[in-house]
Amino acid sequence: MTDIDCQQIAQAVEKHADAARDWLMEMITYPSTQGNEAGAVEYIKGLFDEVGFPAEYQEIPEDIVNDPEYSHGDNEQPYAGRHNLVARQPGGGEGRSLIVQSHADVVPATDWAEAFNPRFDGEYVYGRGATDCKGQVAGILMALAALSDLGVKLAGDLEVQIVIEEEVGGNGALALIRQGCRADGVVVMEASGLDVFPANRGAVWFRAKTTGKSLHMGRRHEGVNAIEKMMEAIKWMLEYEQELVAASQDYPLFERYAAPVQLCLGTICTEGWPSMVAGKCVLEGGVGFLPNKDMAQVKQELYEAVMRTDDQWLREHFELTFPKLHNDAYEIPSDHPLVTTLHQAALDCGLDSEVYGWNVSCDARLYAKLAGLPTVVYGAGSISEAHSADEKVCWAQVVAAAQGLAMGIIRWCGSS
Ligand SMILES: [Zn+2]
Repeated sequence: MTDIDCQQIAQAVEKHADAARDWLMEMITYPSTQGNEAGAVEYIKGLFDEVGFPAEYQEIPEDIVNDPEYSHGDNEQPYAGRHNLVARQPGGGEGRSLIVQSHADVVPATDWAEAFNPRFDGEYVYGRGATDCKGQVAGILMALAALSDLGVKLAGDLEVQIVIEEEVGGNGALALIRQGCRADGVVVMEASGLDVFPANRGAVWFRAKTTGKSLHMGRRHEGVNAIEKMMEAIKWMLEYEQELVAASQDYPLFERYAAPVQLCLGTICTEGWPSMVAGKCVLEGGVGFLPNKDMAQVKQELYEAVMRTDDQWLREHFELTFPKLHNDAYEIPSDHPLVTTLHQAALDCGLDSEVYGWNVSCDARLYAKLAGLPTVVYGAGSISEAHSADEKVCWAQVVAAAQGLAMGIIRWCGSS
């Protein structure tokens, strides 16, 4: 085991901080929304070369869209020319292997003219992706540069993955998992505020459809109104929300949240005419849930809740599907060595870091649930600043996160 201490790590990371802030600001200038990631990914590839940790493009096969775990959306794009980035460094000994992951794609910024014109005010870097997640990529690069400067030879394999399509459900990560990536632990870098999250809430979007019997308004009482049937369905859905809240109260690692689970009614639409009885009504929404439920259970329970109605028409004319976002919840024990090692490394580097569950979902659950790998979320910045106009990240926190990460990598993988 190496005797590199936190002070050496801190100095080695600090040495790259100014350059890395420039990298972050350059990364932000690439508007890497879905379908437009290539420029940012190419730029980041060059940065991996610069820190002496070369990365390769890894193709995403077009048939990934047939995978049952694929997240479909309204803006699906072919994968030609759109790659994940993977950098691998084999360990020199018997240490534990680690995957460090983050993403290069960002959400759009329709209401923010300066989103891709980054600025630094001496404390915060502003721009789309500053915290979610290009700031995390800058942190990873600083950590790698520091390890290289310090001449650290890791005993275990280290793999860094920079993926795309995190923001649309995790299709980049899904591809890497289907391509067989493995490690003894995974650190997904997201805006955790330096905390370590061994659990994430899940979220699934639903589409509910009621069918009625459409007639002219004058014959309303002979028709069946799909909107009214949806109102009845909504009543039972909201009752299910109450049950979900009750079942999730004080669930370990999530006690601090007043309302960690919820059912959200998002959009509703019908076809027809104001003076026509609505023949069809479609409602879309989402359910957030904790690891005390898995996604299949939540889907089933939501359907069963509506089926409790004594409205026979609704029972026979109600469809519930889940065609869009489907992020399972996950958890690993909070005393798992991956959690304790990374958390202790962060504390030893002087970071203000806690261990608890995240009421947000990200790629982490794919590594945990699909690949069965111990996974935590860790990084700089606040999720409340992501996806917003004026997204920003505190630069000192990105540097601090990189210090904790570098120390965590050394302690997890071991070194000689
Ligand atoms: Zn993110």
